[in-house]
Amino acid sequence: MKKIKTPIADIFCSVQGEGLYAGQRQVFLRFAGCNLACSYCDEPAALDSASAYGLLPAEAAALVVKLARAGKAKAVSFTGGEPLLHWRFITAVAPALKKAGLQLHLETNGVLHRELGRVEKLADVIAMDIKLPSSTGQGAFWREHEKFLARAPQKTFIKVVVTSKTKMSDFKKAVALAAAARPGVPFFIQPATARRGGARPPGAKFVEEACCYAASVLSRVKVLPQQHPLWGVK
Ligand code: SF4
Repeated sequence: MKKIKTPIADIFCSVQGEGLYAGQRQVFLRFAGCNLACSYCDEPAALDSASAYGLLPAEAAALVVKLARAGKAKAVSFTGGEPLLHWRFITAVAPALKKAGLQLHLETNGVLHRELGRVEKLADVIAMDIKLPSSTGQGAFWREHEKFLARAPQKTFIKVVVTSKTKMSDFKKAVALAAAARPGVPFFIQPATARRGGARPPGAKFVEEACCYAASVLSRVKVLPQQHPLWGVK
């Protein structure tokens, strides 16, 4: 196994709180560092590489397998931060995790399409975001998302976070991107979780309208808020 020390913010076993596998026990390997800075980001530790601890792939794999066995988890989620910034580490750690019988889930902001090419064959599931500029308070990444979707395999599903600031025109653009790539792709609308000093969730009317619009274009649309804050787990 290659000796690449990588900044890891956390490794823990919990229940998946978002998307297609919500409710499944998983080990989360949370990388530090991200290429974006979304207004609703609830992972400050993941953005701070300086306070993370550096781990070798062998060390991380041993810890993940131990936690999975103890916590009865069958999958590991590479999350962040942005895991694709650390694709070399993922390719180094993947064989040991697969050998232990774990499914590999990749949670990504869907921007780093070149790096996706390095790990797409290793991942069993890819959860990608489409980032709406009116939600994130950042610039647009339509072109990057389009390229990402063009190479994303069948095992990919999409998540779109909507806030009180989200413009319907941005949302419709995300639906169009998804439909152009694959009309049957699972598409999750995730209202932002209310946090003191942070982003606010959208109104019910907006969510209703967005859901109806998406369902008129795509075949597998669901509204699913983040479950972790509701369950009181991390
Ligand atoms: S892409 Fe994810 S980790 Fe990065 S800033 Fe946005 S919400 Fe936070």
